[in-house]
Amino acid sequence: MELNRRDFLKLSGVGTGGLLLYGILGGDKVLAFSKRIPLKKRIGERTTICSYCGVGCSAIMTVEDGRIVNIEGDPDSPINEGSLCSKGASLYQVVNNEYRLTKPKYRQSGTAEWTEMSWDNIIAAIASRIKETRDLTFIEKDKDGNTVNRTEAIASLGNAYANTEEAYLMSKLLRALGTVYIGNEARICVSSAVAADNETVGRGPMSNHWIDLGNSDCVMVIGGNMAESFPVAFKWVTRAKRNGAKIIHIDPRFTRTSAKANLYASVRPGTDIAFIGGIIRFVTEDMEANPSKYNMTYVKEYTNASFLVNPQFAGPADRLDGLFSGWDGSKYDKKTWDYQLDPHEPDGIKKDSTLTETHCVFHLLKKHFARYTDDKVVEITGTDKGTFQEICRTYAATGQTGRAGAIVFSSGACQHSTGTQAVRTFGILQLLLGNMGVAGGGLDGITGASNGLGCTLQGLANNWLPGADSVRPPTSSEQSLSAYGENKPRLASLLKAWYRDTDHNTSFDYLPKRGGDYSMLPLLEAMEAGSIKGLICWGMNPVVSGPNSGMLRRTLEKLDWIVVIDLWETETAAFWKPDAGAHPADIKTEVFLLPAAHPLEKEGSICNSGRWNQWRYQGANPPGKARSDLWIVNKLVLKLKELYAGQTEKNAAAVTQLTWDYGDPPDVHLVAKEMNGYDLKTGQLLSSPSSLKEGGSTSCGNWLWCGMYTEDGNMAARRGTGDASGIGLFADWGWAWPLNRRIMYNRASVDLDGAPWDTDHPVIAWNGKTWEGDVPDGGWPPVSESGKYPFIMKPQGRGHLFGPGRSDGPFPEHYEPWESPMANPMSPQQNNPAIKNWETVARGTKADYPIVATTHRLVEHLHTGSITRRLPWLVEMMPEMFIEMSRELAEERGIVGGNTVIVESARGSIRGKAVVTARLKPYHVNGTNIHYISLPWSWGFMGLSKGDSGNRLTAWIGDPNTGIPEFRAFLCDVRRA
Ligand code: SF4
Repeated sequence: MELNRRDFLKLSGVGTGGLLLYGILGGDKVLAFSKRIPLKKRIGERTTICSYCGVGCSAIMTVEDGRIVNIEGDPDSPINEGSLCSKGASLYQVVNNEYRLTKPKYRQSGTAEWTEMSWDNIIAAIASRIKETRDLTFIEKDKDGNTVNRTEAIASLGNAYANTEEAYLMSKLLRALGTVYIGNEARICVSSAVAADNETVGRGPMSNHWIDLGNSDCVMVIGGNMAESFPVAFKWVTRAKRNGAKIIHIDPRFTRTSAKANLYASVRPGTDIAFIGGIIRFVTEDMEANPSKYNMTYVKEYTNASFLVNPQFAGPADRLDGLFSGWDGSKYDKKTWDYQLDPHEPDGIKKDSTLTETHCVFHLLKKHFARYTDDKVVEITGTDKGTFQEICRTYAATGQTGRAGAIVFSSGACQHSTGTQAVRTFGILQLLLGNMGVAGGGLDGITGASNGLGCTLQGLANNWLPGADSVRPPTSSEQSLSAYGENKPRLASLLKAWYRDTDHNTSFDYLPKRGGDYSMLPLLEAMEAGSIKGLICWGMNPVVSGPNSGMLRRTLEKLDWIVVIDLWETETAAFWKPDAGAHPADIKTEVFLLPAAHPLEKEGSICNSGRWNQWRYQGANPPGKARSDLWIVNKLVLKLKELYAGQTEKNAAAVTQLTWDYGDPPDVHLVAKEMNGYDLKTGQLLSSPSSLKEGGSTSCGNWLWCGMYTEDGNMAARRGTGDASGIGLFADWGWAWPLNRRIMYNRASVDLDGAPWDTDHPVIAWNGKTWEGDVPDGGWPPVSESGKYPFIMKPQGRGHLFGPGRSDGPFPEHYEPWESPMANPMSPQQNNPAIKNWETVARGTKADYPIVATTHRLVEHLHTGSITRRLPWLVEMMPEMFIEMSRELAEERGIVGGNTVIVESARGSIRGKAVVTARLKPYHVNGTNIHYISLPWSWGFMGLSKGDSGNRLTAWIGDPNTGIPEFRAFLCDVRRA
């Protein structure tokens, strides 16, 4: 009998360490060591999806007498093919763990102990605190008399790990209350990628998906250590390498990802724009010298390269002050960033198809990046010139028609005061090289949290309702649905899902209207100022993950109450304890701690970074009295409805009229169906967002999810392992939004007549009547017939090389991190001029803090470590907080490996063990050495392994487009303890 590797894995099983190795080695070497552990009594097997990162590995739970007795990788999954990394393989210890919370607890104001409470009592107490705070602070009208129906005194943080249906219900509850301060982990992790990719190509998430990396000719990993942070997905990179692809890694540290790369470039933290800007310069110059090496039709037709910009526009290449035209000292007036008009053009925009006119986008782009010469790149980034030039040549080769390069990036690229523009450089490069929409190409920003994408897209973000950008929360100037602007069918259908028995024009009033900036840093600032009275933390641990986390902990003392819903007593739940350095008697904040179920203990869907929704099943009951988030939200809403019954003021109807009929306990399938939407006349489930109506005859909780749960069943639960596409689309495994499309912008993978650029890896093809292959991104015929261009979320259907929508410039420009040891070599403008900043933040200077610091993740611990630091297996593998530094720095400071060292920034100090390594080397800039260190942030004062979080050193400043904090570059000093 001949066994393929999947059959082999099914028969043999694979152990923990071997699985990690399998992912990293990307081959079958480990199979020889695999042995199945015999189980005494196999009663049942159910599948789940790993709860840690955004790869979405499938696992099999073996359930015996209601208990999970074994967890192993699912060989049927086309994503992980049976592999699990060390975290995934340790899920067993999450559900069999003596440290889990099993009972609701309450900490009364000023006391030093928890008191146990019944669920009935604690839900009643929380509901009454919410109602009291909401009603006392409710803003029905703003100062201009607009109905705004919001409270700015209750905030919500999380969740990015819950099931998607749970996140949807959290969002529904929060909007019914009028909450506007809403954030989650993804907003401080990769929100700048969303802002950048929305501007460049129209949507924020990964354009392609994990398996597709195997189709690539060149994978560039930047701003992340993919081999450790997303180990199982990295196997698709190593598989591409085995097929002849080149791997490039750009990062301050030489890591396991670098070890597998063909080319590695070390860059100073916070200088990605300069590095990629230099590659863009190389490509634009080479395009003119050797146009046949590039797909110039793609550039001219599918991007805005040919568009003519207002002649008044000027950029740093013209002005020499590092700014773009329109800067008024505090923000940009963008009126010179618009296009020249031509009424004879179908889209009304004047163009130059030769790409030579002085004001055409291509010419402006070329002029802008011409300043990023090889020498300037080296001066800014500290990288090796020869390696940089080799990377330019290698990656530019993907511009040849029929070849494809992918850029994979994560929070290391995003968490900067220039994070949005850094990711914009990736998008610009991909558009120039024709790498968007094609197999093996793409802009692949990874979410670190397992369901960061699925939860955020349910509206667990201040600036999105369920459905993201096109269903944004209305502003105070939008006083009726008719004033809402575009996408009324989506919002009207959302309102019918939330308020089925109320006319949607009336329920539009129930929604809170925005009147300011409610993103993460303003949220923290409002908490510090004492205007936020109550905080709900759904599985989020900001006392470890937040910027300047020591100060953040102290701001929690200003709250009247906080609700923490988690598996464990986290640092956030215990912020008032002496372990945190606090004095309980002085802290008035009431704390409610609710024991939550882990994803292995409940049913629902989860969306991975590649937009694939997969259904997971319940393997065991939660321990003790722990309950799922779905159960908790359901109880809370039912109690609030009781409390608001009969009340007419303070927009009480938003709560009393809220459609809420999922049963008690709630049925997750009813929630998933509500998200999908119904034809309210026939009662049938909808199958496509194109059926949504603005007149109130359809309901749909989230238009992006419309099509996941249809009359044909639950598409996310599908487990079809066949792949008719031949390029790994696996269209019958789970369901990808939107519309089960696996590669977004795929109409850019074909020429104007619909023929694939790459005939070996066709994504779609026009057969003269219809499209074959993946679900086309826009169902129209090819461009030559329809005139419809492939980037359908952009107004003219073209990708944006010139991006006028961002608040800090239409082209990316290098500025130094907020704290930097050197002057900006590009211009007199030291920092991003539009940076989000607060004067209360302490700022370090080179004189006191001469060393650059950056932070990084680990394979053994997830983010704040709130889960993984409770698992003995993982704690044994990665036992304590450490600081990586170069041999040169260690020698200068008299430090040897294993010494305890103190790291100090202007915000605070931490301790950790020194790891002295050749993986870091000082940068030689202008004749001097710039030293840097790197540290994880996965430790806190609770759990089996305790230590200081690296975030006690980071600052409350951020990117102007999303407020994402600058976690990845700041100044510090290091000394032996
Ligand atoms: Fe897969 Fe990520 Fe889970 Fe590891 S942590 S098993 S890579 S989903």
